[in-house]
Amino acid sequence: MYDRVATAVYNLSPVWVQNILCTLAGRRYLARRYGGEFSRWAAFYARARLWSESRLYDYQREQLAQLIRHCFETVPYYTKVWKQAGLCPDDFRDVPDLAKFPCTTKEDLFAASDSMISTSVAGHKLLKFMTGGSTGMPLPLYHTPAEIQQHFAAFWDRMRPGVKLGDRYATFQGKEVVPSQQKRPPYWRENRAANQRLYSMGHLSPEKLHTYAGSLLNEPFVYYQGYASFLLVVAEFMAENGLTPATPPEAVFTTSEQLTAETRKLFEETWRTKVWDEYCQGEHCALIQECEHGNRHAQMDYGVVEYEPIGFEGDQLLAELICTGLIPRAVPRIRYRVGDRVLIKRGFECPCGRPGPVITAIRGRTSECIITPDGRKYPHISLIVDLLRNVRRTQVVQERPDEIIVRVVPFPQFTATDEEHVARSFAERIGGGIGVTVQCVTDLERLPNGKVLSIISRIPGHLDPNRQSRQVNESPKISVQSASDGSSADGHTAR
Ligand SMILES: [Zn+2]
Repeated sequence: MYDRVATAVYNLSPVWVQNILCTLAGRRYLARRYGGEFSRWAAFYARARLWSESRLYDYQREQLAQLIRHCFETVPYYTKVWKQAGLCPDDFRDVPDLAKFPCTTKEDLFAASDSMISTSVAGHKLLKFMTGGSTGMPLPLYHTPAEIQQHFAAFWDRMRPGVKLGDRYATFQGKEVVPSQQKRPPYWRENRAANQRLYSMGHLSPEKLHTYAGSLLNEPFVYYQGYASFLLVVAEFMAENGLTPATPPEAVFTTSEQLTAETRKLFEETWRTKVWDEYCQGEHCALIQECEHGNRHAQMDYGVVEYEPIGFEGDQLLAELICTGLIPRAVPRIRYRVGDRVLIKRGFECPCGRPGPVITAIRGRTSECIITPDGRKYPHISLIVDLLRNVRRTQVVQERPDEIIVRVVPFPQFTATDEEHVARSFAERIGGGIGVTVQCVTDLERLPNGKVLSIISRIPGHLDPNRQSRQVNESPKISVQSASDGSSADGHTAR
């Protein structure tokens, strides 16, 4: 109720007031992320970055031993499940012993509910976040403020090469700060506390794209960050019209979705920059860093990552990620199946020398776009999914330009009111008069590899990153320029 009133008041405010409100909210985020324990952990991760593989391995063993004892003694879910399996904390002596403990799935988290929360944090402040992600499964997340600060310390140490906190940046990530009924620019708002401009994902119609592009031409952003699918809509427009920023960004940081090679090339050529694709999750289970040689490396001081073989793509191993984050203690996830897969180049050592398997690609975060009746591309639904009630999973299917079908896998308590709420949430956030039909289903459509896409588009000519990029590569309008050596980024979980 309060949120609806606050949103209504925000939407009725003039742009300058909305900028102030965004800045005030930004100030709260800054304090939450970068206050308290942040500096201490930033110093820790700067040191740990230089550790040898054996030192990192020792750190994992110590942390896992503490974590498993902590879970056994204070997390009711693990106490019960592990006792039933005949396990106790002493069964863990070294990192390979982790495999004795059962995996945790998203379904387990739903079923476990509050029994997944450690009793050690009773009475302490827990921050709640929602994550829908590319799999359309809304999941509440809880972290202590100290855990958030530790996470961001690791994140900034590893995932933001070449830029620093406080640099001017542009976010293309779907946080809707511009009311959908607004018909004139600016289609962005300013968070001056963080030196951030937030672009609207709800106004990407062809006739409005020139205002997005125009705003990037002369504004010297140090970096852009956001969803590849959102950035792609803007980059394509700029490439087709031969537009390049006067001051190219040092880096573009993409997150949450699969980034194709073609899309990366388009960004780097259009914006004369360097793209870094980042991987982490709201659950804080793994941090996978892209290195200067284009390979990826799981950060051993952040989480323990196991790779369950599934098959091969060419000569590379396809494996499912099973992750145990070393930071979370409030809601620990032991051997968590995050739902993503990676390709591993076996028997290969990356020239950068970082330890662990060399990951060449992350599979399974593909995202397509919804096309609205007024011709906009709406690329990402996770922020809508986060709003839904009593819904286990969500998938949008579009077969006609004026309508989407929202498939939901409901919880038993899902009611007709919840169903109306689903329809209203999608219609209001996407806008443009799109029709919404809600279908309750028992399971969602899957790709041959088992992955569930959050958006399936069956409209001829829909935005498919590969198709679009091939078109772009054939386009004579694109000028090919060398990519700069810039770098870095932020942005991802708990934004
Ligand atoms: Zn490397």
